[in-house]
Amino acid sequence: MRRVLHAFNYREVQTPTFEEIELFLAKSGPGIREEIYDFKDKSGRELCLRPELTAPVMRFYFGSGLKVEPKPVKLFYFGPCYRYDRPQAGRYREFWQLGCELVGDDSPEGHAELLHLALGLFEEAGLKNYNLRVGHLSILRSLLEGLGFPPKEQSPLMRLIDKKETEPLGEALRAKVDARSADAFLKVFEYRTFDQLKQLSGSAQTQAAYAHLQRVWRRLEGFGVDLKKVQLDPTIARGLEYYTGLVFELDAPDLGAEKQLLGGGEYDLSSVFGESPVPAVGFALGFDRTLVALEKSGGLATTNQPVDAVVAALSEGGVAAAQRLGNRLRERDLCVELDLSAKGAKRSLGRASTLGARVIVLLGDQEVAKGQATLKNLASGEQVTVPESEVLRRLESWLQAVPVRA
Ligand code: AMP
Repeated sequence: MRRVLHAFNYREVQTPTFEEIELFLAKSGPGIREEIYDFKDKSGRELCLRPELTAPVMRFYFGSGLKVEPKPVKLFYFGPCYRYDRPQAGRYREFWQLGCELVGDDSPEGHAELLHLALGLFEEAGLKNYNLRVGHLSILRSLLEGLGFPPKEQSPLMRLIDKKETEPLGEALRAKVDARSADAFLKVFEYRTFDQLKQLSGSAQTQAAYAHLQRVWRRLEGFGVDLKKVQLDPTIARGLEYYTGLVFELDAPDLGAEKQLLGGGEYDLSSVFGESPVPAVGFALGFDRTLVALEKSGGLATTNQPVDAVVAALSEGGVAAAQRLGNRLRERDLCVELDLSAKGAKRSLGRASTLGARVIVLLGDQEVAKGQATLKNLASGEQVTVPESEVLRRLESWLQAVPVRA
């Protein structure tokens, strides 16, 4: 995943595990206190273990030189989060999130690239069965406004929409509007195409959101994204009030109730830090759940990175040469296991096979005396003895012949 993030030019930031609780209260409202591990330190400061990383990363952004850098600024993080939740399958009190924040870009192109990146993370990890749903909060908000619910009355409804609790939602709507209008609103839960969305007699905001989403789709197509895995979903509400526009969620259908692997959207936290508005969009990926999903689909690699080469001294005389060669190969970023036990070829070959190494380099008295090394390609069985100066070239050509992501 780090490789993918680097390819998209995202830079990693790290922030402390604990923060002042005020940061999260300012971002998410007083209700969030219930879900947070909070405590007072010896000086009486009200601190907490971070429940998420967007607010800390934006605190860092506004408090550092990043805020004067040319936009967009692209940041990612990977770290533990803590929530005072009731633990259950896929819901832990300590879990890891990997997330991205794209600051200073609210274009459909920027949004499409961020979604493309999110999908790329799962593709790279080997997860095949997932679906991404994308919506825009302006659609729900302007529909509710049209029904006579001004923004400050929308929060309880948005929470019901977020949890897809259509029954209590219907009741709450009918308390204020006639049954026909309430039913018409509930129909939006079935909308999954642009044509259906188009039917919504729209305010200017709905039209703008519609046009924005259509452009995002066109750009996703341009990136070569498989659009079968991306669904339009105008009913994503994301629970938290701080989202402003584009919103999205990604599920792994193979998981049970806690199947959401990633969630995100557009937000603006500038007012929390007393700064002027800056559009931002980001997502958080639940790393633990992603591992569970991979495990279920059989896609979780059980081995660590492959060992490129075992470099083995077969006897005392080979030790110094093996050390020298090991240094050279490691400088080339190869993963090298040194076997300096000098207990003979059989034992070293056994070790290489246990490690699943691709190549073994053997340095015995004979080789050292002639300034040579014996290389064995453990995939093909081919064995050659070459001058020490040629070891690297031969090794790299063998390693290149093996698909890196087999
Ligand atoms: P959120 O910050 O609530 O939008 O969560 C983003 C992602 O983090 C979710 O889609 C989950 O995959 C993961 N996540 C959230 N809460 C937990 C938890 N208590 N345990 C494990 N993963 C979680």
